[in-house]
Amino acid sequence: MKISQLLKKGKPMLSFEVFPPKTQSGFASVGKAVEEICALRPDFMSVTFGAAGTTSDYTLEVATRISSLGVTPLAHLTCVNSTEEKIASLLSRMKGAGVENIMALRGDIPAEGESVSRAFLHASDLVERIRAEGGFCIGGACYPEGHIESHTRGDDVRYLKKKVDAGLDFLTTQMFFDNNVLYNFLYRIREAGITVPVIAGVMPVTNAAQIARICALSGTYLPERFKRIVDRYGDDPAAMTQAGIVYAAEQIIDLYANGIPAVHVYSMNKPQVAAALCNLLSEIVGK
Ligand code: FAD
Repeated sequence: MKISQLLKKGKPMLSFEVFPPKTQSGFASVGKAVEEICALRPDFMSVTFGAAGTTSDYTLEVATRISSLGVTPLAHLTCVNSTEEKIASLLSRMKGAGVENIMALRGDIPAEGESVSRAFLHASDLVERIRAEGGFCIGGACYPEGHIESHTRGDDVRYLKKKVDAGLDFLTTQMFFDNNVLYNFLYRIREAGITVPVIAGVMPVTNAAQIARICALSGTYLPERFKRIVDRYGDDPAAMTQAGIVYAAEQIIDLYANGIPAVHVYSMNKPQVAAALCNLLSEIVGK
């Protein structure tokens, strides 16, 4: 089903993200994680593309597996180091496999010496290409704290509007740990005339080193309350996992209570984290 249709149902939505394996031999463990998360019946599941050293070829394979388990897949697709031919071929394979939802992304700028696409410099170029192909529901990324390359918040919102106008059906946010950051962002983009649904991205932090790395790369703001949790439990993996899940659950409850229609959880192939969250939200999701 198209995510745009799911968003019209008017009930709180919960979705999870997985990343494909780096090699064929990694399929068994990713496949098991996918099965376990699908068993929780999320509204949809997204599969990243070429992120963190994974092989982009496996995104479609994992998305097809999700679909065969009765859950709606959202396949990510990046364009900045691609070609028109490669994008055309991937779109045709997605259509053939019945994948209806694509997250259209630029991807990170390739390192010096690697080629950059002339056809797809920005995600908006890819959105236009997918829209011209027809038949897909298209999502795009947005950054409540501003994209790291943007000089001003104003630039960020202007280019986001251009991307939405190119044909996006919905946006998914980068993770954030203070919901006020999202509420302020929503105010600014609605004022700028961006009206598509925004799915809030939440990450249950289960590992102190990982969050330090992510924040250093993306500049994500960490509230004092969150820092104290990481300081107190960061050296104890079991306690950190529990505290991270509870923090994310509280964030999600506040988001739904403030009228946010859908939350996407950066679950990082961890079914036990997804299951614990579903358990904590069992009476809330769907109401
Ligand atoms: P764009 O929308 O093109 O924006 C990138 C930058 O360019 C921004 O600063 C924007 O303001 C600026 N810009 C946009 N248009 C113009 C223009 N016309 N002129 C000048 N500047 C412009 N990465 C992966 O590799 N694989 C994934 O699966 C993946 N999934 C993601 C999912 C989500 C929900 C998010 C939030 C990010 C994801 N990323 C992924 C990371 C993403 O690829 C990077 O953040 C990348 O740097 C930007 O991608 P974008 O699609 O937001 O790019």
